[in-house]
Amino acid sequence: MEQKTYIMIKPDAVARGLIAPILQRFEDTGLGIERLELGTLTREQAEENYREHEGKPFYPGLIDYITAGPVVKMVLTGPDSVMVCRKLMGATNPRDAAPGTIRGDYGLIVDANVVHGSDSAESAKREIAIFFGD
Ligand code: UDP
Ligand code: MG
Repeated sequence: MEQKTYIMIKPDAVARGLIAPILQRFEDTGLGIERLELGTLTREQAEENYREHEGKPFYPGLIDYITAGPVVKMVLTGPDSVMVCRKLMGATNPRDAAPGTIRGDYGLIVDANVVHGSDSAESAKREIAIFFGD
């Protein structure tokens, strides 16, 4: 199924100079890049994006971390793009993420896990609206 997904290279990865190798992983899938932008999230955008986690112990730290520096925001499009990207990213906790996945290869701790990707087509629609409008 042709669909869009929202992907973000998180501040830890941008600060470490990993934009190019991570972008390469996504391009290698064959999915199309529809939007691509470097920028720092506002607190409002961060809170809106992660509102399902509000009240959890890691939430305040998550908002601080995701707004701490520039991220790469993108919209990828193609067949089953949500699932394709989630598989490529690996498990949320890099410790559990398989080698060969982005989090498995570049991440060490769950607090700074390198990339974000929408978890469903509905989430993608919501997240794209937060970061790109429409
Ligand atoms: N997170 C965290 N500690 C946790 C769980 C999650 O810092 O114990 C952060 C981590 O950055 C993760 C984000 O919160 O990517 C959203 O969590 P979710 O469970 O939605 O994981 P994801 O969808 O990113 O794999
Ligand atoms: Mg999630």
